[in-house]
Amino acid sequence: MSVELTGSTLLTGIFGDPVAHSASPAMHNAAYAKLGMDRVYVPFHVRAAQLPAALRAIPALGILGVNVTVPHKERVARLLKRQSAEARLLGAVNCVVSRRGELFGDNTDARGLAQDLASLDVAIKGQTAIVVGAGGGAAAAVLALHRLSARQIVMVNRTRQRALKLAQRFKSARIDVQDLDELNNPGLIGRAALVLNATSVGLKAEPFLPLAYEAARPDCFFYDLVYAAEPTGFLRPARERGLRTADGAGMLLHQGALAFELFNGVKAPIEAMRKALNARLGRE
Ligand code: NAP
Repeated sequence: MSVELTGSTLLTGIFGDPVAHSASPAMHNAAYAKLGMDRVYVPFHVRAAQLPAALRAIPALGILGVNVTVPHKERVARLLKRQSAEARLLGAVNCVVSRRGELFGDNTDARGLAQDLASLDVAIKGQTAIVVGAGGGAAAAVLALHRLSARQIVMVNRTRQRALKLAQRFKSARIDVQDLDELNNPGLIGRAALVLNATSVGLKAEPFLPLAYEAARPDCFFYDLVYAAEPTGFLRPARERGLRTADGAGMLLHQGALAFELFNGVKAPIEAMRKALNARLGRE
């Protein structure tokens, strides 16, 4: 896609390391093109040692705002004084907005996931949901599921201590921490309305961890935060059993649309962003 730059083009972008794989520039630039805005979204390859300088450059260069991706989300949360309650709770910032020379950190991952689950008609209220993982993605998932009024959230993680620490942050949610091999317990899987993978296992289409797919309720939804051109190792066995599934492309879309609105102060053209994302992921 070619973007026409003028003497007054304004910048937004994304900080990451690596960053070249990111689908965000395609989504945001498609939105600018759709709305006829003289703005551009640029990938910035920012290494850890340069992160504080890169943040200082945002107001210095008049950049409106940036997304933050792997591996910088937690560190940006530690570096910024002003941030939303949500970013503080998650301990991670995925977008930084510049307003009158001041930087403000926010996190749109949980809201993006909640919007995607709602658009997929995944009924969470009063239900049991299983979250696999205890990193930043899992934290956003726990917040989204708590807001959607899950009755119980079962968190399973390879490192039990990390899951216990994460569970402590969500004082008002009912979170049970279990060991990873509980995924193979038909009693647990059979209770769940949602099984959500927030680990990178299965990204390269390798088999997922042992999981009692055969015990899943017919209405159980399998959601993978990972997105890939092919069904992930986590989703494939669920699909083969005719169960409902989705990968994290929808979450990426919605968190990106929310960030677009924070950067630009206008409603995001979500269908243009979806089309660009699908094209980027080879799903036209
Ligand atoms: P993270 O903070 O590094 O956490 C990784 C998690 O995966 C940890 O719970 C880790 O367990 C677990 N894990 C890694 N390798 C494992 C293995 N071999 N066996 C069992 N567990 C393993 O990463 P994150 O930021 O949460 O991201 C997780 C995934 O979600 C990534 O693929 C990321 O791209 C995706 N994500 C997608 C979106 C979206 O918009 N769709 C948003 C956020 C994240 P331990 O604690 O034991 O190490």
